[in-house]
Amino acid sequence: MPKILIVGGGYAGFYTARKLEKWLRRGEAEVTMVDPRPYMTYQPFLPEVAAGSIEPRHAVVAHRRHLKRTRVITASVTGINHAEKKATVSPEGAEPYELDYDIIIVTAGSVSRTFPIPGVADEAIGMKNIEEAIAVRDRLITNFDRAANLPPGPERDRLLTFVVVGGGFAGIETFGELRSLASYLIRHYPNLSFEDTHFHLIEAMGRIMPEVSLETSHWVLKNLAQRGAQVHLDTQLVSAVDGRIELSTGESFESDTIVWTAGVMANPVLRNTDLPLEERGRLRVQADLKVINDNGVVPDAWGAGDVSAVPDLTGGGVGGFCVPNAQHAVRQGKRLARNVVAELRGDAPVDYFHKNQGAVAGIGLYEGVFQSGRLAVKGLPAWVMHRGYHGLAIPMWERKVRVFGNWIVNFLFRRDVVSLEDRITPRAAFEEFASRPKA
Ligand SMILES: Cc1cc2nc3c(=O)[nH]c(=O)nc-3n(C[C@H](O)[C@H](O)[C@H](O)COP(=O)(O)OP(=O)(O)OC[C@H]3O[C@@H](n4cnc5c(N)ncnc54)[C@H](O)[C@@H]3O)c2cc1C
Repeated sequence: MPKILIVGGGYAGFYTARKLEKWLRRGEAEVTMVDPRPYMTYQPFLPEVAAGSIEPRHAVVAHRRHLKRTRVITASVTGINHAEKKATVSPEGAEPYELDYDIIIVTAGSVSRTFPIPGVADEAIGMKNIEEAIAVRDRLITNFDRAANLPPGPERDRLLTFVVVGGGFAGIETFGELRSLASYLIRHYPNLSFEDTHFHLIEAMGRIMPEVSLETSHWVLKNLAQRGAQVHLDTQLVSAVDGRIELSTGESFESDTIVWTAGVMANPVLRNTDLPLEERGRLRVQADLKVINDNGVVPDAWGAGDVSAVPDLTGGGVGGFCVPNAQHAVRQGKRLARNVVAELRGDAPVDYFHKNQGAVAGIGLYEGVFQSGRLAVKGLPAWVMHRGYHGLAIPMWERKVRVFGNWIVNFLFRRDVVSLEDRITPRAAFEEFASRPKA
């Protein structure tokens, strides 16, 4: 039986595995999926997790529960030697080992792309993983708790100043959702006022959200300004050392929370492989998702999702390649599974083709935008579309029900406003009072 190895169980990898389970006949191939996380993350929900509108566990999909015929290994792939068809698997707390395969599918996604700006690596946090979204939510609420004990002044301002870097979809959604959470929190802190909170989004380009029209992006800017959130266009972050934000405009202020959403890059694990990469570090694939090098197809290697440079045959895309988004990753995962099955049976694979269906974003409770071609919807109707679309798009019915259940409960009782930041030191309370043997 051929052994298929899937590297990464996010959007593309999870859907590939699901569809291989569906389309492979019993005994036709053995599928193994390796991912350091035991779940697929529904990333479009991260801003709502950060805002306390969705319970974190509801925004992820457990691999072992939903992949019944796939062997799931919770570990990182740290190297691939495709010439010998061996992958190095590194589980946490155990020795790395080599795993043989016949066919490899690389769907290891992307990581936050940063620039060498002083302070960013030490002070900022990304918005790519569920853990980051939880940490941002807890930080914002904890800062309110701490600020409520302080007199007006620089320390209180620092705690109540929130910065998001990057005005793409992920950044604007995160920014709008955090503003929405903060505006709601205020009512629970009688000695803090709306004016005490400060929200800054820093964007190097002259506009935000390139996926929507200029007019729609202007509407978003106006909406955010009305809600007390300031967007700095044509502005670069120059330094964030010790939380002191310095901007290219000369402006400067202190912040305790810096969320970095200024782009992604292909997973650097690719550098530890002998697979062919293009100049931006993505895996080189052709339209049927087979890996290629200068001599043509690299046998038995496939790629999809953010980690791969997949040609966009619709003529759209950036530089002729599909943009890194979930719309593509899901469909590429499905196409890839079909193509692998086709090839195993001696049939020809089919090229990936998907025309962009538009973009929908939630930018805070009851606020959203939708854009498809020249059609734009703004405000409450777009927000309903955002929730309707994503509530149904998260894989597995039990997840959909949990997410919609979350929203209904929050509609009735409002979102939870508790920070569980002390979970970082869970033994502290026990240790404080624990009896110890006398010296
Ligand atoms: C905040 C936010 C909001 C977004 N909103 C939207 C949206 O509204 N619409 C949209 O279309 N797109 C959206 N996206 C983009 C979308 O989520 C990504 O394009 C999509 O997740 C890419 O899928 P993928 O499978 O390539 O990567 P991922 O889903 O990131 O999966 C990669 C997987 O590989 C695993 N992995 C990493 N390293 C290794 C390793 N060494 N070994 C094994 N496994 C590894 C990871 O743990 C992960 O599970 C959003 C992204 C973010 C961050």
